[in-house]
Amino acid sequence: MFSVARPKFIALVTLTRRNLFSKERQRVSVTYVTGPGPQRSPWLRLGCAVAVLAGSAFVGTVGLAQQPQAPGRQGGPGGQGQGRQAGAGPQGQGRQGGAGLNFDNIEVQTLHVQGNVYMAVGGPFNAAFSVGDEGVLVVDTMVEPLADKFLAAIRRVAGDKPLWWVFNTHHHPDHTGGNITIADAGQSVVAGNFAGQAGAAQAQRAFIWAHENVLLRLSRNEGNPGALPVAGWPTDVFYADRKEIYFNNEPVQLLHVPNAHTDGDSIVFFRKSDVIVAGDVYVNTRYPTFLLDEGGSYEGFLNALNTIIELTVPKDKQEGGTFVIPGHGRLADEADVVEYRDLATIIRDRIQDAIKKGMSLEQVKAAKLTLDYDGRYGATTGFWTTDAFVEAAYRSLSGPAANVSQR
Ligand SMILES: [Zn+2]
Repeated sequence: MFSVARPKFIALVTLTRRNLFSKERQRVSVTYVTGPGPQRSPWLRLGCAVAVLAGSAFVGTVGLAQQPQAPGRQGGPGGQGQGRQAGAGPQGQGRQGGAGLNFDNIEVQTLHVQGNVYMAVGGPFNAAFSVGDEGVLVVDTMVEPLADKFLAAIRRVAGDKPLWWVFNTHHHPDHTGGNITIADAGQSVVAGNFAGQAGAAQAQRAFIWAHENVLLRLSRNEGNPGALPVAGWPTDVFYADRKEIYFNNEPVQLLHVPNAHTDGDSIVFFRKSDVIVAGDVYVNTRYPTFLLDEGGSYEGFLNALNTIIELTVPKDKQEGGTFVIPGHGRLADEADVVEYRDLATIIRDRIQDAIKKGMSLEQVKAAKLTLDYDGRYGATTGFWTTDAFVEAAYRSLSGPAANVSQR
């Protein structure tokens, strides 16, 4: 298992793509149109956002009273959505359609969590940022159509403080879609030999950090509809277990959690503020979402939850202590994550037991092994239905993915 006391090895890969540092902005409407094509639909990549529009998800025990109402959904098939009208609601018809989000109706609001850290919420999309003496560090950038509103929300809190860093928890477009807008609003320290490689343009935008698999998956998707343009890709990636910086008077760590939601997940730990930004390895509005064809796995997902629990400390007999900002859903603390980890473990054990007994996938589905949790986390429509979860669990626990290396 992961241990914060382990010796650190940080590997930094600096990219020197010429066009990576271009100021040219190729704003491409995020259009989650699906259809036949050589690549999987970007729908699934939006999928992590899809299941959480029910509205009820946004008011939690930690007081997100100012959360916006669930945005109205546009009629018609979401698969035909264009630009800012695209997206999907919780009643979306799987990966191939569903009602669209009207981004014009979504406002981005902020909540001061504690210390330097703020949570930003725009409809079903969460992000976070740190504001302090040195400036601004942003974790995830929502979808592209909300990027301007997200930037305005940051500016309402931070004023004109310099924006130095953007961290991505993973590659999905509801976490990286605003990368270009946010990075372009920033700046970076470019000096020495690196100045020659990067050019002056890079000094006028923030660096973007992520695990290297984020870059690999974004670059693999290049040229497809809705793909993030190169200018939004990470400028610095890491392939070991962490990358860290001392910023705004505190250590900030990107901690890679392998083969969880995807194969490029990081949680971001603000050590003095005592806040973790979990990305989609913790989403409290649906069943665990591990995307097997993007390197996710059930065991890796559970390991990620346990990593969060190792790092969090509850306030004595109260809510609070270390706060956890989920990829989607309401602000949480350790008890929330423990409850979720427990249900994920219980269901894992049930399905694993069924597999050992030789039950087929259809038999496992028919046995309704998740029934007691379905009221809270289940779904019959949308991209991550209960059946989709059970099927992914069955496949993950049956196949080689079950042998995810244990750190
Ligand atoms: Zn995701």
